[in-house]
Amino acid sequence: MIIAIDGPAGSGKSTIAKKLAEELDFVYLDTGAMYRLVTLKALNEKVSFNLLKNIINLSESKNNNSDFEIIQNMKKILENLNIDIKKNRFFLDEIDVSDEIRKPVISENVSNIAKIKEVREKLVDLQRKFSKSENVILDGRDIGTVVFPNAELKIFLMADAMERAKRRYKELVLKNEDVTLDEIYKNIVERDKIDSTRKESPLVKAQDAVEIDTTFKTIEEVKEEIEKILKN
Ligand code: C5P
Repeated sequence: MIIAIDGPAGSGKSTIAKKLAEELDFVYLDTGAMYRLVTLKALNEKVSFNLLKNIINLSESKNNNSDFEIIQNMKKILENLNIDIKKNRFFLDEIDVSDEIRKPVISENVSNIAKIKEVREKLVDLQRKFSKSENVILDGRDIGTVVFPNAELKIFLMADAMERAKRRYKELVLKNEDVTLDEIYKNIVERDKIDSTRKESPLVKAQDAVEIDTTFKTIEEVKEEIEKILKN
């Protein structure tokens, strides 16, 4: 059985998906973390993010000399991508980078990496392989629309942008990150915009997804609401 939980950043997806997975004894897959791993790899390889912003589709982009090298680098990254997920810990080239991928520099660049068609194809393929013959809860932006359009249950979580920014801010401050609420808010709004307007698999609610506004709800309340839907 597949449960798809989609929605924008900070809507509560991963917290709720994790708790539900524990209770139902499902495997949990955080697909956003996979896009973050590719972003970290690109950063490590010093791919120029400023230029990458404009490259939506590597195979079709009309290369000029300046971005040819960047495209080649990104293709190499995808060909040799070595990512792994064990017990909700994330590994890049065998190194545990679970904390690193949550850093602001990754959040600032991940949505531009996630626009690239080749990146999405590679990660969607891995997500489907990971979920073979298992009971899985996946959270992301395109699970109910693209990765598993036949998922048995689809939930779309949303919440007011400032409320979502406050949630992220609290998480990052606990990790001693030097950030301001205003920076987080701007990043969330920017990512919402890029994620929902991109050509490849934009962030939209699947027609058959149940939408839950989590702005004024506790994690427990949202979880119970989903469990009720599951029982019916
Ligand atoms: O879920 P999280 O906020 O960690 O995701 C980081 C970014 O990865 C999103 O802003 C989005 O650009 C991208 N993403 C995506 N498709 C998914 C999951 C995440 O495009 N299924």
